[in-house]
Amino acid sequence: MATDIEIAQQAKMQPIEDIAAKLDITPDQMERYGDYIAKIDYSKVETEANKGKLVLVTAITPTPAGEGKTTTSIGLADGLTKIGKKAAVAIREPSLGPVFGVKGGAAGGGYAQVVPMENINLHFTGDIHAITAANNLIAAMMDASIHNGNPTNLDPRRVEWRRAIDMNDRQLRNMVNGIGNRADGVPREDGFDITAASEVMAVLCLAEGVDDLKERIGRIILGYTYENEPVTVSEIKAEGAVASLLRDALKPNLVQTLEGTPVFVHGGPFANIAHGTNTTIATKMSMSNADYTITEAGFGADLGAEKYMDIVSRFADFEPDAVVVVATIRALKMHGGKELDELKDEDVDAVRAGLPNLVRHIENMQDTFGMNVVVAINTFPTDTEAEVEALREEVADRGVNVVQATHFSDGGAGATDLAEEVVRLCDEPSTIKYAYDLEDSLFDKVEKIVKNVYRGDGVEFSTKARRKLQQYEDLGYGNMPVCVAKTQMSFTDDAKRKGAPEGFEIAIDDASISAGAGFIVVQSGSIMKMPGLGKTPAATKIDVANDGTISGLF
Ligand code: ADP
Ligand code: MG
Repeated sequence: MATDIEIAQQAKMQPIEDIAAKLDITPDQMERYGDYIAKIDYSKVETEANKGKLVLVTAITPTPAGEGKTTTSIGLADGLTKIGKKAAVAIREPSLGPVFGVKGGAAGGGYAQVVPMENINLHFTGDIHAITAANNLIAAMMDASIHNGNPTNLDPRRVEWRRAIDMNDRQLRNMVNGIGNRADGVPREDGFDITAASEVMAVLCLAEGVDDLKERIGRIILGYTYENEPVTVSEIKAEGAVASLLRDALKPNLVQTLEGTPVFVHGGPFANIAHGTNTTIATKMSMSNADYTITEAGFGADLGAEKYMDIVSRFADFEPDAVVVVATIRALKMHGGKELDELKDEDVDAVRAGLPNLVRHIENMQDTFGMNVVVAINTFPTDTEAEVEALREEVADRGVNVVQATHFSDGGAGATDLAEEVVRLCDEPSTIKYAYDLEDSLFDKVEKIVKNVYRGDGVEFSTKARRKLQQYEDLGYGNMPVCVAKTQMSFTDDAKRKGAPEGFEIAIDDASISAGAGFIVVQSGSIMKMPGLGKTPAATKIDVANDGTISGLF
C-alpha cells in the first residue's frame, strides 16, 4: 500500500467552494486560503448546538499497537456520505512539535485522510502561530508591567504565565531571563511551553464567540501578588489586543476528506492539561450545517470522552447522540498481556483477556454518561474471525454491536456498516449524564471521576495538591469542572498497568487553575508541557523538492 502522503498527493481535490456548498455555506461566508482551504466566518454562519446529530469518536486505553480514532472519524464520515447522509467531521489541527518529533502527520491515514495534508500539517491557516503570538503578547505585557512599577503587585517569583512556541524544544523548558542591566527587565525564572499547551489554546477552543473569547482571556490568571491574590490578564488590560490577534484564528477552517466530505480542522489543545478536542465553534458550525457531525476526543475514553462530557458538553450544551468506541484486535491482545512483536498470530485467549478494558469503557459511556454506544474495530489484515467473534460475544449482553471497519484500506466504502449502525443509534433516545455535579467540591469531583470512570478505590492528594485545591475553593473557583492530567496508557496512574485493573488509588500530586478556560487541572505524575526531540526526529526525513512537493510526512 502507498504511504499516507503518496495517497494524499494523488487525491483529486474538489474546489473548496464545492465542499462548502455541501453544507450550504456560500462563497460570501468564506475566506479562501488558496483553492482547497477556507475559513468560515462565524458572524455569517449559524453556530447552534444540537441542530444536527453529534457523534463522538473515542477509544479503548491506548497501546503502542494503535487504535485509530482520527482515521475512524474520517472513515465514518465518508461512510455516512456514501449511504447518502449529509455528514461532516470536526477535528483538531496538528501541532508542529509532533509533526517534526515522532508522530508525523495527524490528518488520518491510508484512504481515510484529510487533504491537503501538507498544508494541514505545516502552518495551515496560521491559527497556531496566532495563538503563539497571543500567548506571548500576554507575557510581554505582563513583564513590562512588572518592570514599569509593577502596579498589579505581581510577585515575580509567583508568575505562572509562561511563554510559548509551536516546537518541541527542551532547551527552552527552563530559563532565567530579564538579566542584564536595570533597563533590561526583572530577572526571574521562566520557560516556554509548546503552543498546544498554552491556556490561550484551551480558551480559543472553548470560546463561543469574540465577546466570550475576550472575557475568558481577561480571566486568565498570570500569577499571584505578594499577598497571595491572583493577578489576571484583565488587570494588565491585554484582553482586547490579545483577542484581536485571534480574530481570524477563531474562524473554523474547512477542508475535505479524500472523498470530498467536508472537514472542520480547528484548534488543538492538549488532552491532559486541557480538554483535548477541536473548537466548540467549529463543532457548532458543523452541527448547524450537517445532519451528522463526527468529532474526536483525545486519548482513551476514560480521559478524552470523560472531558468531552464533563467539560466540553457542559460548557457548550452538547448532547452526543452516539459514541463510537474504537478498538483494534491488536491492542486488545496487548491489554491481554501480549507484547508488540506477538500480535500477528491469532490468539483468541489474549483477546478475551484484554476485553475487560473495552468493557469498562463501554460501561462508562453507557452507565456513567448515558450514551448510545457502538464498538468499531479498526481492522488490520492480521485480525481473524474467531478473534472478532470473541469480542462480539462479550459485549452482546450490553446491547452493543461490534462493527468491523476497513476505511484505512477501503475509504468510506469500508465504513458503511459502521455508518448504518451510527444512524440507527442516533435515532435511539439518550440523555447525557455526568460523572460529577458542578456543586461538588473539587476534591469530590476528582474522587467521583476516579470511582465512576477509572473504577479505582479513591484518591490520594499530596499536601501541595490539597493546599492548592483548597485555595481555589477559597477564591471562589470551586464550581469549575476538573481536568485530570494523568497517563493515558492505563486506567490507573501507572502506565504499565494495562487491561482493567482493580483495587487502586490515584495519586494527585499537583493542581493548577485555567481560569480563562474555566477548569481546574489536577495532575498525577509529571506532565510535560514542552516536549523535546529524540535522537532521530521525524524532521530528519521531511524534505521539499524544487517544484514544492513535500515528502516524508506520514
Ligand atoms: P488516534 O487518532 O487514535 O491517535 P490515528 O487515527 O491518528 O489514531 O492513527 C494512528 C496511526 O495509525 C496513524 O499513523 C494511522 O495512519 C495508523 N493507522 C490507523 N489505522 C490503521 C490501520 N487500520 N492499518 C494501518 N495503520 C493504521
Ligand atoms: Mg487522533
